[in-house]
Amino acid sequence: MDAILQKESLGRWIAKLQERGEVYAPEFVEDAWEFTKVERGASVELDHTNTVLPAKGFVFPQREVLYRFRIENGKTPELTDTELSVKPMVVFGVRPCDGRATVRNDRVFTCGVSDPYYQARRDSVVFIGLACNAPPSPNCFCVAVGGSPCSEDGLDVLMTDLDGRYHVKALTDKGRDVVNAASDLFQAATAADRNEVSNAQVAALEYPQRSISAMDLVVAALKRNFESPLWDQLARTCIGCGACTYLCPTCHCFDINDEVTSKSPLTGARVRTWDNCQFPDFTMHSSGHNPREDTGARLRQRICHKLLYFVETHNMQQCTGCGRCITHCPVGIDIVRIANVMEEGVWQ
Ligand code: SF4
Ligand code: SF4
Repeated sequence: MDAILQKESLGRWIAKLQERGEVYAPEFVEDAWEFTKVERGASVELDHTNTVLPAKGFVFPQREVLYRFRIENGKTPELTDTELSVKPMVVFGVRPCDGRATVRNDRVFTCGVSDPYYQARRDSVVFIGLACNAPPSPNCFCVAVGGSPCSEDGLDVLMTDLDGRYHVKALTDKGRDVVNAASDLFQAATAADRNEVSNAQVAALEYPQRSISAMDLVVAALKRNFESPLWDQLARTCIGCGACTYLCPTCHCFDINDEVTSKSPLTGARVRTWDNCQFPDFTMHSSGHNPREDTGARLRQRICHKLLYFVETHNMQQCTGCGRCITHCPVGIDIVRIANVMEEGVWQ
């Protein structure tokens, strides 16, 4: 199902969707793009580069309460489950790399055993993508990891900017539902419109991107070089800030802690928060032994998880080429450069 939306009608579509739930879109706040809630009547212009934080937080929030507890002497402990019904949300302006990240996060959270907290959000959130048809960030490399600037993977709707209007393609039942909610705003797409979309997609593929030309060689080189001392050299400047993983749309590690609000009676909440494999205590055993005790071992884990282990278990890279970990690393550690060092056989 595809249709045309004039740009001046975007606000009315959003207003229609706000009658059903919350709407989010990228907004330039201070000096960066971030997803913010669209207030009623606010205008939205979808001309953003990638947001600093990815869209994964809508389905896997940075902090969430799993349940609350109350333990009083002589009484049975009371556990109160978190209400799993999530308000309907529509997120506009999701770039294709973040859409493809959702496919990977689905594998982690719904494959085999389904995580009910993730699943409840996944069922309630509609991701409306925006194809990239302008020069991307200098660190984008979606094509190198099997994606494209107009990938539909993981999205409910894909919009393509056609200069004055959007081509809007509904991809899932949730996507068709949000388009049908304002059907009077859309016009039928013509063959000429579709032709224009195809041309925009071909042009987008020609914009410069970083490249990794032989991913199969990278996989083989990662296997061969697990013990290489070069990991320590590459990671020598890493300060362990964790920006690379917190900002990654596919990083999904979490920790679970009890936050106590009173000691008598004992009350509090069991809380899940994002965790980070670049932190020294991520793998610290209670004995004091740490199997990844230096930055080289931790960098190796991050790169191998992205480009080797996930390929072995799910037949896809756990990297969508968004470039955030490169752009925001304060010391310039660069996953593309590392992959290319391997591809070129420098490590052997
Ligand atoms: S590893 Fe880096 S480039 Fe790949 S998806 Fe994560 S943040 Fe983006
Ligand atoms: S962003 Fe850079 S410095 Fe920070 S933990 Fe990641 S690799 Fe290390």
